[in-house]
Amino acid sequence: MAGEKKMAMTIEDYRRFKSEIIDAGITMDFMLPEFADSINKFAFMEGCLSFPGQTIKTQRHKWVKVKADNHKSTLYFSVWNDDSEEGYDKDKYLMMAYETACVQHEIDHLDGKTMYDRQLVLSPWKRENEKIGRNTKVLIKKGSESKTIKYKKFEQMEKDGWTLAEV
Ligand SMILES: [Zn+2]
Repeated sequence: MAGEKKMAMTIEDYRRFKSEIIDAGITMDFMLPEFADSINKFAFMEGCLSFPGQTIKTQRHKWVKVKADNHKSTLYFSVWNDDSEEGYDKDKYLMMAYETACVQHEIDHLDGKTMYDRQLVLSPWKRENEKIGRNTKVLIKKGSESKTIKYKKFEQMEKDGWTLAEV
């Protein structure tokens, strides 16, 4: 399969960023991009042109290396602001976080995944020994869908891929 998949990766949402990002070019073409390595995660609010008007909190790797056929060197993306001498620069931090999340977002598209596959879902907090009553209303999610139903109904829907989002 190597060498067969050639796709242009567009950092679509870069348009939101002005100045140096646009000067550097708003698109990056990768062939055969892959995550070579990654550590840790960070939460990020994401949108997607495929889901107009929708924004969700995702979990992305804080640091990624991307190897691509058409780039000699390995590309690095990270949320960290290395310019410590200049002090913390919020705009730069956000820009780097945005770039790091975007790269993962776009590579996911190539693999048929969307931001909903990376949604940060917090486990429902439960007091020890506390049981969810069968008639307790719970918020459940499946992909981009969510609904509030009674827990006893959720028990039957769990096998269809619904997960508990909130009690
Ligand atoms: Zn997208």
